[in-house]
Amino acid sequence: MGANAHAAVFDLNERPDGPTDLVGLSRAELTAAMAELGEPAFRARQLWSWMYRRGATDFAEMTDLAKPLRGRLAERFSIGRPEVARAQVSADGTRKWLFKLADGHLIETVHIPEDDRGTLCISSQVGCTLTCRFCHTGTQRLVRNLQPREIVAQVLYARDALGDWGLEGEDRRLTNIVLMGMGEPLYNYENVACALKLITDGDGMAVSRRRITLSTAGVVPMMERCGAELGVKLAVSLHAVTDELRDRIVPLNRKYPIAELMAACRSYPGASNARRITFEYVMLKGVNDSPADARGLVRLLQGIPAKVNLIPFNPWPGSAFETSTDEAIEAFARILMNAGYASPVRTPRGQDILAACGQLKSASERARRLRHDAAADAPASATP
Ligand code: SAH
Repeated sequence: MGANAHAAVFDLNERPDGPTDLVGLSRAELTAAMAELGEPAFRARQLWSWMYRRGATDFAEMTDLAKPLRGRLAERFSIGRPEVARAQVSADGTRKWLFKLADGHLIETVHIPEDDRGTLCISSQVGCTLTCRFCHTGTQRLVRNLQPREIVAQVLYARDALGDWGLEGEDRRLTNIVLMGMGEPLYNYENVACALKLITDGDGMAVSRRRITLSTAGVVPMMERCGAELGVKLAVSLHAVTDELRDRIVPLNRKYPIAELMAACRSYPGASNARRITFEYVMLKGVNDSPADARGLVRLLQGIPAKVNLIPFNPWPGSAFETSTDEAIEAFARILMNAGYASPVRTPRGQDILAACGQLKSASERARRLRHDAAADAPASATP
């Protein structure tokens, strides 16, 4: 399966003799699928509304379609949800779902409830190729891009589980989406773009682009398109202020060094004081958390509408780093604050269920590695 199997409707079917899953088809593709049944374009609009406004999964519910048509649709099509291999709820209300995809791969999705919003953290790939030294996902070897359907289905399933269908605006428990789960979204750009088009469609799920944040480790050549075409907010995983350090902890930096990354941020389409770029900075004890690092960060951010998100490092089994002390984090934040940057420290959520940033890695993969090569892995990451 290629990175962009979105062009042909029936290519999306993983069981060639079974029903075709309608989830993830673009509006044009859905219209084409209806045309094949001899149905007019407004059928596709009706279906779209059932699937994405009301969360229908059964054609029998679609009472404004003639009964024989419902039967024909059910013969040829399905409205899929991913299989849930495991669902966990943290003491703080954070939920994590482990989904099993049709080919057996596993991905994770996290819902973080807050007073004024509910944020869904979705995955864009199975695993991740970036191997950031502090990130658990980066130790997973198996990687593939998620299809639009598999990205959209995470949101649909969360709406099911949260009882969110039919609710509007403030009442919704899923108001915001961050692409901060497993994977590098800008390495799966086409499929992410298709999925976001569905998720933001005003006649469907209607999640505002202003409430969607795409987080990248800095795939510089894709950043311009991301801003111009997707119109979502950008978060950049910076984590270090010198190339020397960033080369080591975010290896992508060897390809796209800090100066190029900051230039791409400076010209990110749509960035303004009202729509700032978030710079994520994981606080690693004794590695990147000194006052000199903070001052270096202030220098780098000059001229960019920016805010900083300081993320205390979330440890995982076998990780080689420690979380910075509270004092170091406070001192770091104060330097940023004095330079005029709001820099909230992100409270880790869902740590008890390994749902916090950088902790996502499929359970089966964890078990396999613990058995086979956890010992071999430790020394490699011990020297970031
Ligand atoms: N590939 C994208 C999105 C996934 S990571 C990116 O790199 O931005 C989402 C965020 O969690 C990134 O900022 C990442 O650097 C951070 N992160 C990864 N591991 C972490 C850990 N163990 N503790 C805290 N944050 C972590």
